Amino acid sequence: MKKVLIVEDEEDIREMLRLALEMADFECFEADNIRDAHIHIIDHNPDLVLLDWMLPGGSGIELARRLKRDELTARVPIIMLTAREEEADKVLGLEAGADDYITKPFSPRELVARLKAVLRRTGISNADAEFKVGDLVVDTAAQRVSIGDVGLNMGPSEYRLLTFFMSHKERAYTRGQLLDLVWGGNVYIDERTVDVHIRRLRKALGDVYAPLVQTVRGTGYRFSTKLVTAK
Ligand code: CA
Repeated sequence: MKKVLIVEDEEDIREMLRLALEMADFECFEADNIRDAHIHIIDHNPDLVLLDWMLPGGSGIELARRLKRDELTARVPIIMLTAREEEADKVLGLEAGADDYITKPFSPRELVARLKAVLRRTGISNADAEFKVGDLVVDTAAQRVSIGDVGLNMGPSEYRLLTFFMSHKERAYTRGQLLDLVWGGNVYIDERTVDVHIRRLRKALGDVYAPLVQTVRGTGYRFSTKLVTAK
């Protein structure tokens, strides 16, 4: 079952989209703002994002650009939804990385057809992403972390942090950057919370892989594979 994230602040339209997609056998997640949308994308790894143009707290275009900039989310196809019909808007949407563009109002049938076309065109879904360092594997399709044959237990925040680190190796990040990139800039989380999740992540990774999560003095944290290759 393909997963679709619907990012739309108007409840009626969101509901209509969800019903149409569920009838066509898609699994749906919903968000009504950019921050929640980003969190859903990291957590649920959707096969496609339906993204409204005008949203509270920022435009869909901003989110599209952000997703395309990040290696972890760059391959998630995006269909922009908009009430505006101007050609310039369409160009702007496509330049931001959207794969298609649908103007409101549209029929559910048209929507489903366009969505399937985009999924066919973009081929392999993002759900196939797998990150590996030595025997440590993060399988984002199964949302499973393992070392060799042994599955690791970790909370959703530690999983998100690890997936981010494994797709952004050898770079130092401040706590603020990690909050923004991993938790979607949730201002309600204190920077010290990052330290708590780093500690839990190291514990979950065990003696061999914990040292890859390195403290960078005066900055924050870095995930480095250099130790593994030197092992
Ligand atoms: Ca809107």
